[in-house]
Amino acid sequence: MRDDPTPPADCRFETRAIHVGQDYRDETGAVIPPIYLTSTFETGNPGGFDYTRSGNPNFRNLQTTLASLEGARHATIFASGVSAITAVAFSLKAGDVILSEANIYGCTFRLFEQVLKRFGVTIKYANLANPGNYGLIDDLKPALVWLESPTNPLLKVLDIAAISQHAHKVGATVVVDNTFASSLLQRPLELGADLSLLSTTKYSNGHSDVLGGAVCSNSDEWQARMIFAQKALGLQPSPFDAWMTSRGVKTEALRVERHSANALELARRLEAHPGVKRVVHPFLPSHPQHALARRQMSAGGGMLLADFGLSQEATLAFLRRLRLFTQAESLGGIESLVCHPATMTHASVPKETRQAVGVTDGLVRFSAGIEHVEDLWADIEQALKAREA
Ligand SMILES: *Cc1c(COP(=O)(O)O)cnc(C)c1O
Repeated sequence: MRDDPTPPADCRFETRAIHVGQDYRDETGAVIPPIYLTSTFETGNPGGFDYTRSGNPNFRNLQTTLASLEGARHATIFASGVSAITAVAFSLKAGDVILSEANIYGCTFRLFEQVLKRFGVTIKYANLANPGNYGLIDDLKPALVWLESPTNPLLKVLDIAAISQHAHKVGATVVVDNTFASSLLQRPLELGADLSLLSTTKYSNGHSDVLGGAVCSNSDEWQARMIFAQKALGLQPSPFDAWMTSRGVKTEALRVERHSANALELARRLEAHPGVKRVVHPFLPSHPQHALARRQMSAGGGMLLADFGLSQEATLAFLRRLRLFTQAESLGGIESLVCHPATMTHASVPKETRQAVGVTDGLVRFSAGIEHVEDLWADIEQALKAREA
């Protein structure tokens, strides 16, 4: 047995993803931790565990890994990304205000509008890609500023550092939903945000076989609130799911590099294709916040957006002609997916609101998988050709 299995503190992302959070030791020498399928723990155990709703060795392992990858002191994991959002949202009280980016994940919007509002929290929305709107932070003095960058599905890039500076002047907490970017490509806390939230369902786990969420921070106070929310609201994951995500996260760097490279290459080719009206990817020079994206992300991520300028029916017919892209919600898994935001991820957002933020009927969102890019491109090309025939 090694004298000390603790990885050196200056290890890089790829190494930490594999070695941090694995430091349990017992008499068996098992290289991979077991799944602790136990609801309760004997009182007085040295790990301080009591009941799985408020902690489990598999939670601790994954929390340690995720905190390290996000450059955070703390991480708390939840049953899903929406559970993580619930944990943050229900740390507020009646009378509090949230200022949110207008183009957010559909289920975040639904939770704000259909649940949180009923508890007396006010939610205001603004296009925070426009610095002209930062003044709203001074006017509203929100408890929380809710950001997503890149946003879903429009891939707008928000200036996390500038918004955080502004928000901190009025004492607001800045939350960044970092799901689309991934921990590899963007570290919100290093940019000045207070909380980085992940749907670990996506790039962290990366294999489309488990749901999970996490909230990372450097604040002891927020960490205490998250642990409280995990047990008081019953938002904990299962030990099995936590174990699965610990397995997935070890290959995050390899996967996300390929996702990103594939997405950028497909975006370039689509942009050069005469049948395509508009293509969005943060690392395309045509992206409106391209310079900012290059500053705050180390690569552009695996998501791209295309507008084929087609009606809703013709757009859906194009999706059905694809053979390697499965039409499904979600993203960040090894297999390529495609989605029609207007009828899928953003169906819960009223049509007027949807159109106002730019989620139109001809938009197609691709989650580039890690297949060979030439195969993915050939598939898109044949589906486009059939349209022209
Ligand atoms: C998927 C997703 C969520 C919700 O995560 P679940 O794990 O599906 O509950 C939140 N935010 C973003 C940006 C997402 O893509």
